[in-house]
Amino acid sequence: MKLPDALARSLAAGRLPHAVLLQGAQPQALRDAALFIAKCLVCANPQGGQPCGVCRSCTSLDVGSNPDLSVTVPDGAFVKVEQIRALRDAAMLSSLGQSGRVFVIEGADLMTVQAQNALLKLLEEPPPGVTFLLTAAQPGVLLPTVLSRVALFRLGEQGPAPQQELAQALVEKLCEHDYYGLLKLQPALCARREDFAAHCDALCLVCHRLLCEKAGPSPSPLAARMPAALAAALPPIALACRDRAQKNASLPLLGAAMLIECWEVLH
Ligand SMILES: [Zn+2]
Repeated sequence: MKLPDALARSLAAGRLPHAVLLQGAQPQALRDAALFIAKCLVCANPQGGQPCGVCRSCTSLDVGSNPDLSVTVPDGAFVKVEQIRALRDAAMLSSLGQSGRVFVIEGADLMTVQAQNALLKLLEEPPPGVTFLLTAAQPGVLLPTVLSRVALFRLGEQGPAPQQELAQALVEKLCEHDYYGLLKLQPALCARREDFAAHCDALCLVCHRLLCEKAGPSPSPLAARMPAALAAALPPIALACRDRAQKNASLPLLGAAMLIECWEVLH
């Protein structure tokens, strides 16, 4: 199993954060990675970030009967608040006795807002010995409060999606105080109505990633240069514009207004 290096290192060192979000385009690859990590966490004899594969925890997990692993998948189109409440009850109970329990939430980006708020309480005060593994194709749609409490890792070798490249360019132009460069992004931003929401999501995601990098030991040059206030201000603008696009606002006007609103954060 090929995990991102930083993730593999913290797993091997036994220092995995209590809440991890795996991002990727392939649901099966995300599921495999989440189950592999879960196996490492429940294994009785893990070796250098690898499960032993032969202990009772490993073998029962392989056949889907390990009581320390709980997997939540979307119920229809969404992960619903009732599902997260059931998960919360199980997590609270587990803190009474067992340790090393793992809760996987597949399709975490399909959680309803109520479900996310219910999960948020758990993430804020996690029961001891419990790890949450979330998987999502588009983490940018999650509430910023949820995103700020998970460690995000991207799976897969593919380069950044075009939406992320545009979002990154947008942040760069803002940080360079390049107003005309910024406005030149408007045609790409508004090229297709069906892509506009993905551009808005990507902007949220890029801001979150830059904020995380900024707080870390070796931020990229852009993360170092970007004011934290800018990264905090852009996602609400993007989400409001995404809403307006869905209500059939004129896309070229909306895109221009969005860029100008982003500009005005700093100027
Ligand atoms: Zn084992």
